[in-house]
Amino acid sequence: MPAMNDEQLLRYSRHILLDDLGIEGQTRLLQSRALVIGAGGLGSPVALYLGTAGVGRITLVDHDTVDLTNLQRQIAHRLSRLGQPKAESARQSIAALNPDIEVRAMCRRADAASLDAWVAETDVVLDCSDNFATRHAVNAACVRHRKPLVSGAAIGFDGQISVYDSRDPEAPCYGCLFPPGTAFEEAACATMGVFAPLVGIIGTMQAAEALKLLAGVGHSLAGRLLMLDGRAMHFDEVRIARQPACPVCGGEARRS
Ligand SMILES: [Zn+2]
Repeated sequence: MPAMNDEQLLRYSRHILLDDLGIEGQTRLLQSRALVIGAGGLGSPVALYLGTAGVGRITLVDHDTVDLTNLQRQIAHRLSRLGQPKAESARQSIAALNPDIEVRAMCRRADAASLDAWVAETDVVLDCSDNFATRHAVNAACVRHRKPLVSGAAIGFDGQISVYDSRDPEAPCYGCLFPPGTAFEEAACATMGVFAPLVGIIGTMQAAEALKLLAGVGHSLAGRLLMLDGRAMHFDEVRIARQPACPVCGGEARRS
């Protein structure tokens, strides 16, 4: 394990002071790779916190460009970067805070083939996307490659977050809870609206779960779905079980 230099020891000192983390945990973060799908409302705090916390390599995926309507909540972007690709804009924001780490901006859609390649070479995946098609493609790649998935969603005043960790044979995948092919109502911020700090709350929790998984701190949300009612600022927690018949992780799919 290469030793941290003096500047790193200073930069990450408030992490190193944590008994649960220490130099070992911080070194693990510096050697870790994270894949972030979506550089919007959830992806912004995710990208910024993974960056400031020193995750060694971050891959940001987003096909969209920065728009004025994004700036109400997508805090990784800037007025000066309207029209620029979101992944590149978020990369610049991380670089301005922490040039110590490698950030790769993928300004394209996350399709099955590219996800397969990206997920294979990462340690944790954060789904910060806004549609079921992408969520299912990300989940399928995570199950295939046995990579932990930190999944968040936010719309209106409601948010939810969980961890789907297919390294654990008992843990459910995203498809166990939301079977692919089931018609769920697709809610878009563009039509429904979203309370600005809500994406910050959920995205920040996603970053926390990813950092815990990478550093080996505490225990994750795997098997638990947290649902936030932002109007009452009330969290509900439901246990979610693995479905043996799940078309994504069930039976042969899990064993093969
Ligand atoms: Zn499943």
